[in-house]
Amino acid sequence: MSKEKSRAEELKEKLFYNPKHASEVISQEETDKADAFCEEYKSFLNKAKTEREAVVYVLEKAKKNGFVEFDRAKKYNAGDKVYYNNRGKSIILAVIGKKGLENGTRLSAAHIDSPRLDMKQNPLYEDTEIAYFKTHYYGGVKKYQWTAIPLSLHGVVVKRDGTKAYVNVGEDDNDPKFVVTDLLPHLAAEQMKRTLADGIRGEELNILIGSRPFKDDEASEKVKLNIMNILFEKYGIIESDFLSAELEAVPAFKSCDIGFDRSMIGSYGHDDRVCAYPAAEAIFSIENPEYTAITVLTDKEEIGSDGNTGLNSSYLKYFVADLANMQGVNYHTVLSNTHCLSADVNAAFDPTFPDVSERRNASYINKGVVITKYTGSRGKAGTSDASAEYMGKIRSMLDGADVVWQSGELGKVDAGGGGTVAMYLAALNIDVVDLGVPVLSMHAPFEVVSKLDVYMAYRAFKTFFEEK
Ligand code: MN
Ligand code: MN
Repeated sequence: MSKEKSRAEELKEKLFYNPKHASEVISQEETDKADAFCEEYKSFLNKAKTEREAVVYVLEKAKKNGFVEFDRAKKYNAGDKVYYNNRGKSIILAVIGKKGLENGTRLSAAHIDSPRLDMKQNPLYEDTEIAYFKTHYYGGVKKYQWTAIPLSLHGVVVKRDGTKAYVNVGEDDNDPKFVVTDLLPHLAAEQMKRTLADGIRGEELNILIGSRPFKDDEASEKVKLNIMNILFEKYGIIESDFLSAELEAVPAFKSCDIGFDRSMIGSYGHDDRVCAYPAAEAIFSIENPEYTAITVLTDKEEIGSDGNTGLNSSYLKYFVADLANMQGVNYHTVLSNTHCLSADVNAAFDPTFPDVSERRNASYINKGVVITKYTGSRGKAGTSDASAEYMGKIRSMLDGADVVWQSGELGKVDAGGGGTVAMYLAALNIDVVDLGVPVLSMHAPFEVVSKLDVYMAYRAFKTFFEEK
């Protein structure tokens, strides 16, 4: 028997802010769509574990969707689709709008690099008849999480003659895998006294790669020789070729559903593929937008966005300048009128570790895509704090399209902090706010997201690009 709502209940509904579980808000049909969308996303996660592989995947899909390589000497018309591949490590996708570029663009920016173990430039050595690679970790990692899990090796080796060998070992079920060893608890009495931050040290992240010696030879370092011989036969590389290589070790496990209800996805590299994939899919889904739509999938975010494939470089600005020139518009005008969703993840509230969050302002899995007005640390240092006006715009856009969304802060005040590419976009005088998916176990080798949130990120980017 349904009871009539009291005046107080009615008023609360009208006046209070109370974000809900997405499944209470959306239809079963939309839930099914979200689950279907995530099947493709899981396959992307398995195929694109590094920034280079993400570019290859997105580029192939872009071409199938009618995108052609951008040529700054050409003229493009409304509805034309172009891509700009920046050194195979970041990529810009654009669909020319009906409105002139002086009206600005609708820009979404996500990153496709993730925390990992990079091989050092002279990585190969043998100790006690075991062969290893030395590593230097990339991005923010809890080092102890990277031991005793299967790893795969990805990347490129540029040989002395300039040709490239592409490496991808450990992803096929039949491939060998690699691992960083750890101490057995029986002998870890001293190690266990270290702090968690120091439990495994950077120079202890050595990857096990072989243990059988080269046969019929009197030389020393025969295990290393055997490995080098295998690599020479397979890739034609010699040891000095590592000096001009980028080899990255990432977790070898595949993405999968999490939970009896299959409501979540566990995987390596959700940060930030969980925003990059929806941002790319959203631009693939649109035809003839009002405003020129741009998705940039960038590199180097995890180490501060520096480097010419990161968003602290001018490559995006130059691309926009080339577009602007084509229409005889000043690029300052285009950037100054551009609206951007900086697409990055936020830390979801974890009930096991409630102390680092402030419940009223944390983001939660399943409450939809999260808007993060500011990140940073120590009193909002190192962030772009979006204006109330821009928050208001984005808020009414999402509400108007029934996109389930929430607001979220990255941890409680002074608990730590972080940053995104938003501040580099703001530096170009673009209006920008962070929008992305809440993640559990962020930056771990195996992160968790909710399927409904992933789909809401896609809906948010699509709505943004379709703005009139
Ligand atoms: Mn990120
Ligand atoms: Mn990150």
